[in-house]
Amino acid sequence: MPRKKTFSCGHKGYGQTCHRCIQECATWIQKKQEKQEWEASFSLDPINLRHLPAHLVLKARTIIARLEGSRNYIEFRGKRMRHNRLIISIPLSRDYRMICRDCGTKLVPEGVMSHEEYNVCKPGG
Ligand SMILES: [Zn+2]
Repeated sequence: MPRKKTFSCGHKGYGQTCHRCIQECATWIQKKQEKQEWEASFSLDPINLRHLPAHLVLKARTIIARLEGSRNYIEFRGKRMRHNRLIISIPLSRDYRMICRDCGTKLVPEGVMSHEEYNVCKPGG
């Protein structure tokens, strides 16, 4: 049985290199790649979703994908704005709304607004 040695990183173990650090490095690279892929995925979105929390990004993407094929915004509790019937507001959460424009044959996403922004600038107004 070889004796444990202390590597330059401070960890103890067997062999030429510290397996803990190799593992940590692999995890770090994987996380970094996942982060890059996540960031790159935003360039495929028709609207900017970068400021949203991750679970709302996924929810918004699901809604956008569903609206591509159908105009059924009511499925997502969306409703038309009273001051502009062409603008549809779909709640993503208590704090965020997705704004879509009714372009006749389809609903085109315009953006996501926080509850405060939404109350101040009245989308489509
Ligand atoms: Zn180490």
